[in-house]
Amino acid sequence: MKILVINAGSSSLKYQLIDMKDESVLAKGLCERIGVDGRISHKTADGRKSEYDVSFPTHKEAFEEVVKVLSTGDTKVIDSMSEISAVGHRVLHGAEVYKVSTLVDDKVIDTVMELKELGPLHNPPQAVAMKACQEVFGKDTPMVAVFDTSFHQTMPEKAYIFGIPYEYYEKYHIRRYGFHGTSHRYVGARMAEVMGKKPEDTKIISCHLGNGSSITAIDGGKCVDTTMGFTPLDGFIMGTRSGAVDPSVITYIMNKEHMSPDEMSNMLNKKSGFLGLSGISPDCREIEEAAEKGDHRAALTLDIVTYQVKKQIAAYAAAMGGVDAILFTGGIGENSSNFRQRVCEGLEFMGVKIDKALNEKASRGENKFSTEDSKVQVWVLPTNEELLIARDTKEIVDNIKK
Ligand code: ADP
Repeated sequence: MKILVINAGSSSLKYQLIDMKDESVLAKGLCERIGVDGRISHKTADGRKSEYDVSFPTHKEAFEEVVKVLSTGDTKVIDSMSEISAVGHRVLHGAEVYKVSTLVDDKVIDTVMELKELGPLHNPPQAVAMKACQEVFGKDTPMVAVFDTSFHQTMPEKAYIFGIPYEYYEKYHIRRYGFHGTSHRYVGARMAEVMGKKPEDTKIISCHLGNGSSITAIDGGKCVDTTMGFTPLDGFIMGTRSGAVDPSVITYIMNKEHMSPDEMSNMLNKKSGFLGLSGISPDCREIEEAAEKGDHRAALTLDIVTYQVKKQIAAYAAAMGGVDAILFTGGIGENSSNFRQRVCEGLEFMGVKIDKALNEKASRGENKFSTEDSKVQVWVLPTNEELLIARDTKEIVDNIKK
């Protein structure tokens, strides 16, 4: 079975064609500038590449081009579209409606669109992309929606209700939803696997550290708490996002600077975090370089974020009454040994002992870097959201065939 995995944005569409026989990626690529002009870049597993401008007035033309580039010409990996058995779509927000991945029909597409108030930047283009995909592939090709929020739907009320009047939860569904769920679910399950344990028997803290970052406490294979909240702004500092701040700071600055809610939201989402603190860049590598050269604010930025991550890990160990493993994933988690070391130092009191030399070599692969006598295992585990989407899609499609 070959499954096409789609991650759509308002003007872009990322895709991977995965052969479920051995879970290998046959080809992947990116359609960009949809609704502007259009460009596709495509790469097959054996290294054939193709990149060209093509008109993408809407997502539909982008899907047509994806089918063409997969099934014709020099970059062909399948003989025809009919070899694609199903399509899996990444969807940002499933709110409290979608607690698991779901077979897509017209009602699901409408509901994903209706949830635009909760995911204004992502849900509308993702609903539009699902509709366009249906038009290109026809209704006989099953589509599955995999939600970033679903994994976190197992959180208990005490973890997801905020300390504001309860009526806002009832009226506007304001609560902690959590994001990066597909990533945390993938690496969480993989962590149990590499430890040789059943997920039910594990307590895991998953640190997804990238441009956007979140930490999730996974007890017995289920999410019990996570740092991102009503939106992906909550938690600790990220590339351009502030993470949690005293809410009064927001109203205070709005009053002082005569800022509108949109201006404040822009400041918190796009001008804060690594970028706002360092004044240099949202990119962790550049911050690390500047800190090494002695830039005080860059060093402070790293001090703050590694301190916040460390505190969060200890808090989640308390939330679960223990921890068996801590894992690092995402661009920073998978690549920065310096960042990982700074987070883990000081956690010895709770049984975390890392081997610095192993940590130096742990990047870019599945690697343990805790010592043999560490009570808590500490790992780098690369995430693979596309594979999880493909697996969910296969499982749902196999079930409808039964
Ligand atoms: P996204 O959240 O957009 O998927 P990524 O997971 O790719 O982003 O993470 C991007 C972040 O990873 C950037 O801050 C980048 O600087 C950081 N990063 C990538 N490689 C390294 C590295 N070798 N050292 C430190 N940071 C790195």
